[in-house]
Amino acid sequence: MHNAALEHCGIEARYGRIHIRLEELGEALRLLPEQNFIGVNLTIPHKPAALALMDKIDEHARRMGAINTVVVEDGKLIGFNTDGPGIVRAIRESFSVDLRDLRVLILGAGGGAGRAIAVQCALENCERLVLTNRTFAKAQSLADELAVWFASPRVAAPVKRLRAIPWESIASEIPHVDLIINATSVGMKRMDSSPVAGAHLAPHLLVYDTIYTAERTKLMLAADEAGARSANGLSMLLHQGALAFEIWFNREAPLEVMRSALVSRA
Ligand code: NAP
Repeated sequence: MHNAALEHCGIEARYGRIHIRLEELGEALRLLPEQNFIGVNLTIPHKPAALALMDKIDEHARRMGAINTVVVEDGKLIGFNTDGPGIVRAIRESFSVDLRDLRVLILGAGGGAGRAIAVQCALENCERLVLTNRTFAKAQSLADELAVWFASPRVAAPVKRLRAIPWESIASEIPHVDLIINATSVGMKRMDSSPVAGAHLAPHLLVYDTIYTAERTKLMLAADEAGARSANGLSMLLHQGALAFEIWFNREAPLEVMRSALVSRA
């Protein structure tokens, strides 16, 4: 999608993939200015590690504890996170509702993407946020960190605005949430099953799977079974990419050109 955007805008640059091991990240980032890079995206497992390697970090990226976009400016590296803002646009596009108006349950709130989405929900002042993670302690510590954002009740409700729950308690929270976001890596492999069984879902739910490698992920099939609406992570991928383009080039991204390129590759 980035090469299509660069071509469309007449920018003489190319976007490519480079495989960097975790122990090589510092050296690779240091080489960017002398190799005339405009910027880079970072993916698993580099997003949290990059925080310590930037010259400057955007305030929201610091809160999210992860960097997915780096811009090289006057030889310095500046880190951003476009995954958080990307999901806001993706939810709006997929379900015609705003994240801020929803009671959200995040599966995988301990991972990089889950944390970024949870912080974004706090920044948006979401109506309610429920965090769960296979390793419960990570969800609990994130909830403790975000508690200050959810201190005042937005609407009078019988349940707490912010909660961390053990994975086994997901089913009992379903009546009190509107949107489930899967930010775990469960579903990336063909043999994976759905992170939540269809029998535990309900028709009122919106289900967003951040996984974009399948058109209909296992979680989406489980949502179908329950009569719930669902979407895969392609829209988040598109919007985080468009936001990165805007950071690199300080101009509006050609969204429809990027979308067509992405869909033709999917
Ligand atoms: P990560 O930091 O490695 O986190 C992985 C998460 O998955 C952790 O919460 C982990 O729980 C959980 N997990 C792993 N195996 C599990 C299992 N068997 N059962 C339950 N939970 C399990 O990875 P990430 O960077 O956050 O990426 C997570 C997902 O987000 C990936 O699927 C990625 O494709 C997606 N993503 C999509 C976009 C997009 O643009 N659409 C952008 C970013 C990420 P523990 O803490 O217990 O290990």
